[in-house]
Amino acid sequence: MIVIELNKRQEKILQIVKNNGPITGEKIAEKLNLTRATLRPDLAILTMAGYLDARPRVGYFYTGKSSTQLLSESIKKFRVKDFQSVPIVIHEDSSTYEAICAMFLDDVGTLFVTNKDNHLVGVCSRKDLLRASMGGQEIHTTPIHVYMTRVPNVSVCYKDDLLFYAAKQIIDKQIDSIPVVVEKDGHYEVTGRISKTTITRAFVSLIEDE
Ligand code: ADP
Repeated sequence: MIVIELNKRQEKILQIVKNNGPITGEKIAEKLNLTRATLRPDLAILTMAGYLDARPRVGYFYTGKSSTQLLSESIKKFRVKDFQSVPIVIHEDSSTYEAICAMFLDDVGTLFVTNKDNHLVGVCSRKDLLRASMGGQEIHTTPIHVYMTRVPNVSVCYKDDLLFYAAKQIIDKQIDSIPVVVEKDGHYEVTGRISKTTITRAFVSLIEDE
């Protein structure tokens, strides 16, 4: 992955290529009084990270990309499909009590609600369940479709969307989770889930995969 903190030698190499490029690995090594073999890992890192470009028989170029630019380029490579998790789905006629159990058992904060045809009809969050319980309704008999947020008011995303697009919806709409869907005959089928945890995992992977 692209986000790296450069060491002193890598900074020096960057400076040399910036001032003298295109320049061969041999020449860079000469300037630093090092062998080509010693430099090889640093050159590989700088090229992989996008700071340098290597052309056969010509040498190394400075790409001129800032670390912020490289960071945003790598974030833009994150797609929903690479990070999505398993969706927890519940039938619209399930009771509030069953929804609470599903949330505990599956350790999620949001349930996606479907009808008998497996079409997405709504979303039920922790707050919706609290609201249902606070309203003095009978939790064993009130079905969740009474208080879920209904399609078309549900924000969705698709597996090929940028993960950033899903993250933006989570922030803009102040929600915790978004279903990943496929559209069939004007209906949504749920295939995955993007949640705040997913976005956090993507953030952590930026640093860890370094
Ligand atoms: P919590 O209940 O933990 O605060 P949310 O912030 O996700 O969880 O939910 C707040 C409200 O937004 C709830 O009423 C919920 O039904 C609704 N909601 C949750 N997810 C979505 C979504 N993807 N699209 C539209 N509304 C949603």
